[in-house]
Amino acid sequence: MTCLFCRIVAGEIPAKQVYADDVALAFLDINPWHRGHTLVIPRRHVTDVVSDQAALAEIAPAIQATAELLIGRLGADGINLLSNNGAAAGQEVFHLHVHLIPRFAATGGFAAMAAPDSDIDLDEVYQQISRS
Ligand code: 5GP
Ligand code: ZN
Repeated sequence: MTCLFCRIVAGEIPAKQVYADDVALAFLDINPWHRGHTLVIPRRHVTDVVSDQAALAEIAPAIQATAELLIGRLGADGINLLSNNGAAAGQEVFHLHVHLIPRFAATGGFAAMAAPDSDIDLDEVYQQISRS
């Protein structure tokens, strides 16, 4: 088995697991961006969200339960949810995972991590996506 996260599911590689149910696991990211940065994954191998219609809904209860832990036990004031789909998006492990990144009021919100691009023409983008 070569998939890193399948090996974590199988118990072959240790992980700091904080939540588990029949279909999903949650464990601390080994290189956290913020305190409590956690990954939620399906137990079954799925490459990413866009390649499997059911997987995100399957792990939704685990995402919610893990978010409650981060808020209730770690005192997070908010949480960024992120899933990188494809290498161009920054995906490095090709087993679906949702990053739960706890945020604390003192450290700034999403705007501190990403800024809007004023060069983007909304009309042009809209027409390209919506044309039939
Ligand atoms: P991606 O860039 O694919 O969205 O995120 C992969 C994440 O997996 C990274 O944030 C990285 O730190 C984390 N990661 C990589 N290898 C391991 C590992 O062996 N154990 C754990 N707990 N996290 C890992
Ligand atoms: Zn896998």
